[in-house]
Amino acid sequence: MDFSLTKAQQNIVAKASVVAKEFLEPRAAYYDEVASHPIDSWKDLWRQGFLSISVPREHGGQELDMLTYIMVVERLAQGCTNSAMTLHMHSTVQRYIDALASLNQKTRYYSEVVEEGLLFGSWGSEPGRRGGAGTVGTIIVPVKEGFSISGDKHFCTMAGGAHRYMVHCSRESDDGARSLLMALVPNNASGLEIHSGWDTLGMRATVSPKVSFNECFVDENAVLGEPGAAEKVGVGQSFGLGYAGIYIGAAQRALDFFVEYVSSQRLTPDPAPLSHGVVVKRAVAQMQLALESARLVLYQSASKWMNQNPIHRAILAARAKYLATEAALMVTDKVMQMGGGRFAHKGLPPERIYRDVRTCTLMPPNVDRSLEIVGQAELGLDDELLSARYSS
Ligand SMILES: Cc1cc2nc3c(=O)[nH]c(=O)nc-3n(C[C@H](O)[C@H](O)[C@H](O)COP(=O)(O)OP(=O)(O)OC[C@H]3O[C@@H](n4cnc5c(N)ncnc54)[C@H](O)[C@@H]3O)c2cc1C
Repeated sequence: MDFSLTKAQQNIVAKASVVAKEFLEPRAAYYDEVASHPIDSWKDLWRQGFLSISVPREHGGQELDMLTYIMVVERLAQGCTNSAMTLHMHSTVQRYIDALASLNQKTRYYSEVVEEGLLFGSWGSEPGRRGGAGTVGTIIVPVKEGFSISGDKHFCTMAGGAHRYMVHCSRESDDGARSLLMALVPNNASGLEIHSGWDTLGMRATVSPKVSFNECFVDENAVLGEPGAAEKVGVGQSFGLGYAGIYIGAAQRALDFFVEYVSSQRLTPDPAPLSHGVVVKRAVAQMQLALESARLVLYQSASKWMNQNPIHRAILAARAKYLATEAALMVTDKVMQMGGGRFAHKGLPPERIYRDVRTCTLMPPNVDRSLEIVGQAELGLDDELLSARYSS
């Protein structure tokens, strides 16, 4: 399969590498330590054009194809896993807007991103529900001049930091059947209660606490499309594909750091740099090959993305996410093991990335669910795939 890019595509991927190194990585340790929104990094991402990478061109965005998009988030993750993860969630909301919103809504929401540099979060997960599966318990009902939302969400990334949150709601029809309806809730909406407490192993700067909606009011323009439409557009599956790119990018940075370290360090009584050790050579080979093979499947999935139906997209994402998860966990663990005690110091990229990768690889579809999806596809159990929900 040919993964070659045009000159313009290559330029934006190269720019992502520069932005990751010059703007994102220098701040990553601080945001991790204090577990705060990476606000200055978001500003830089906006100034450098990355907040609009999945906004259509006719609305002032860059409208990257999926392969280039994946390469961009992979490069950004080399600087800061948290900034890349929040950018990816924001970008996936922009894809939902493209697929579901009216022209008036697009004009309004895209200008907030392109002109003002504002971010959008996506909140689907609920305390009583498996990650990315089952009927949504948060209810949306029509009221005078708008809608009222009630329910609890958890793992609400960018809570208090983004401008709007795409809240995954259930809309009940007259016969009691429930279908998914996305509502874009402004950060200052009445009835939106952000609970304190986000002190986690890794991904600390995503700031993803629990949020309650207590008859939270939104105006008529806040809902995207008809009830049930969000499940048919094949956008939710791109959450998992982008996560795969971020895992590979983050793990690659840990490996690159390790390679620089063993190439430049000599420890008494050995006369040669650490890189000359046979164990180091074998470990570097194993790690690099794991990342390369996961990356190949990821790029293959991204290249096939366009024009695939939601089920095929779920399979493509599950293949990529499973391999990226396994590779990133192995590489970050091995980098810590091989680097030894010196690498346990906070502030060094491997220690932070090790915790971030261990945490962000829990995102849905998790390892077991990804394998289940791939297995169902391989066994031709399409009816089971049809009955599952794949949005995050
Ligand atoms: C840093 C971070 C940020 C997040 N941000 C957001 C956000 O902004 N918006 C949002 O909506 N959500 C977010 N999430 C939540 C995420 O989407 C999941 O919903 C969340 O991690 C809860 O899933 P879970 O861990 O309960 O997984 P579960 O899916 O319940 O998995 C728990 C265990 O059950 C097993 N399991 C699950 N399914 C199967 C299966 N089919 N077969 C066999 N075993 C299975 C798994 O192996 C796993 O060990 C975030 C999560 C993290 C960690």
